[in-house]
Amino acid sequence: MQGLMQQTPLTLDGIFRRAETFWPTKRLTTATPSGRERTDYGTWAARTRRLGGALEDLGVSADGRVATFAWNTARHLELYFAAPCTGRVLHTLNIRLFAEQLVYIANHAEDEVVFVDRSLLPLLWPVVDDFKSIHHVVVMDDTGSAGPEIPDDPRIVDYEQLIAAATPHPFGVVTDESTAASMCYTSGTTGEPKGVVYSHRSVVLHSMTEMMVDAAGVGESDVVLPVVPMFHANAWGLCQTGVLAGSEIVFPGADLSPAAIAALITEEGVTVAAGVPTIWMGALQFLAGRRHSLRSILCGGSAVPRSLGEAYRTEVGVPILQAWGMTETSPLASVARIRSDRQAEADSEEALADLRATQGIPVPNVELRIADPGTGEALPWDDTSTGEVQVRGPWVAREYYNDPRGAASFTDDGWLRTGDVAAVRPDGYIRLVDRTKDLIKSGGEWVSSVDLENHIMSHPSVAEAAVIAVPSEKWMERPLACVVVKAGETLTEEEVMEWLRPRVPRWWLPDGVEFIEEVPKTSVGKFSKKDLRERFADRRVP
Ligand code: ADP
Repeated sequence: MQGLMQQTPLTLDGIFRRAETFWPTKRLTTATPSGRERTDYGTWAARTRRLGGALEDLGVSADGRVATFAWNTARHLELYFAAPCTGRVLHTLNIRLFAEQLVYIANHAEDEVVFVDRSLLPLLWPVVDDFKSIHHVVVMDDTGSAGPEIPDDPRIVDYEQLIAAATPHPFGVVTDESTAASMCYTSGTTGEPKGVVYSHRSVVLHSMTEMMVDAAGVGESDVVLPVVPMFHANAWGLCQTGVLAGSEIVFPGADLSPAAIAALITEEGVTVAAGVPTIWMGALQFLAGRRHSLRSILCGGSAVPRSLGEAYRTEVGVPILQAWGMTETSPLASVARIRSDRQAEADSEEALADLRATQGIPVPNVELRIADPGTGEALPWDDTSTGEVQVRGPWVAREYYNDPRGAASFTDDGWLRTGDVAAVRPDGYIRLVDRTKDLIKSGGEWVSSVDLENHIMSHPSVAEAAVIAVPSEKWMERPLACVVVKAGETLTEEEVMEWLRPRVPRWWLPDGVEFIEEVPKTSVGKFSKKDLRERFADRRVP
C-alpha cells in the first residue's frame, strides 16, 4: 500500500520563495572595506531573480556549472540561489587552493562562468587562460574604487551591469529533487581534491535539520554569522539554513581578523556564529568580558580543544558547541549537545566539558558506525574500541563526481568511509581520536594525536600544538609534539612532559618536542599535519 501524500519536490526554489514572501524587510549585512553594506531579503530576492535571467543572457547551458571565487557576501548568496533555482549547478571554488588545484577543479567540473570578487582577481586572473570551459569572468566589486585593476579583456563582465540589464527569472524549473544544486571539492587536507555534488533534496533536508533545536538550532529570530567560508563545505550549510529560517545573516567579507569578527559579533547582535577552532582561538581575547548576544558558537572542522570550549564558557559566557562533519556530509553529521539525562547526572562542569569535547551524537537521519580497519566488521560502542567512522544518510555523498579514485571511500553496502577514527560511548557520543592518515601506530597500538594535542593545549603557556608520527625502529612510529608557545611565555621540553605525565598513559609521551613559530594551516585554517610531517621528515627516534 502506498502513502497518499503529495510528492512535491524538495527544491531550493521553496527555500528562496519562503524568504521572498515572508521576510522581505529582514536584514542582510556584509562587511566591506568601506563599511557595512545593508540589504534585505526583498532586494536580495529581486536581484537573485535578475541574476537568474543574467545566467540565461550569458548562455550558460541548462545544467551548466556556475563557479564562484568569492568571500562571504550577500552577493555570493545571490549566486547560491540563482544558479540552482534556474537548474544550474553552483560550484564554489576555494580561494586558497594552489593554482594547479584550482585549474584542475574548474576544468574537472567543466565550469562555464566564474563570478569573482574584485579583491580576489589577482589570484584568479593569472590562471584564467588554463581554464578550458570558462567563457566569462564576472567581476563583483567588493573593494570600492581602490581595488586591483580590472583587465581589459573581452571575457570580463561587470556584475552590477549584468544584473541591471537582465530580466527577472521565474524560477520553478527544477521538478526533480534529485537534480544537482551545487558542488564543492574536498579541500584536500589529506589528498587530491574530489568533487561532491549536492542535490536540491539533500540541501533542503540538511537545512531543515540545521534548524532543529537539537542540531544547530537556527531560527527566525537569529542573527547568523558564518565565519566559515561559503567556498568551503557551503559555510556549513548556514546560508541556506538562514534563508530557510528567515534569520538575519551577517557576512564577514574579506576581513577575517579576530578583531573584525569580534566587532561584528558585538555590534551586529549576532546570536549564532560558526567557525573553525583557529578562528575562535583568535577571537577569544576580543570577546572575553564583552557584551554580546551570542547563543551558539558552532565550531568544527578539526577537534575543538577542551581548553578552548572551557575558556569560552568561563570568559565569554557561552560554551563552544562542537559539530563534526565533512564536505561529503553537507557537512553536518553530529553535534555535541548535552543530553538531558547526562546534564542531570553530571556532578561538575568538568564532566560537562568532557562531553562538549566529544564530536557529539549523530543528528537525525545520519547513521553512524565504527568499523574494524582490517576486517571491516562493525565494532561495539563501548568507548574503548576504536575504528573507522562510517556514515550514511540523505545528505551524505554516495560517490564523487567523475572520479574512479573515489570508489575506495565507499563500502560495498553503501556507507561513506570518512577516514576518521573514533570510539563511541554507549550513549552515542563520538570520541574522534584521529584521521586515519594522522594516526600514530606505536608498537601495534594507536596513540591519539587529538588527545595529546588537547592535553598540551590545555597548558597555560601553549598557544597551539600539533602531534605527528615520526618513524621509529623499535616501535614503528612514535609521537612528536610540535608546540607554539604563547607570546611572552617560555616553556621547555621537560615542562611539557611534566604536564603530560599525569594526564596520559606513559607510552603516549612524545619522543620529542619541537618548538615552532606557528602550526602550518591548510586552505581552510586547519592544522596541516602533512606540512609538519614534511618539515620533520628526517626525524627518527630509536
Ligand atoms: P578536508 O578533508 O580537506 O579537511 P573537510 O572540511 O571536508 O575537508 O574535512 C572534514 C574532516 O575534518 C573530517 O573528516 C574530520 O577529520 C575533520 N573534522 C571535522 N569536524 C571535526 C571535529 N569536530 N573534530 C575533529 N575533526 C573534525
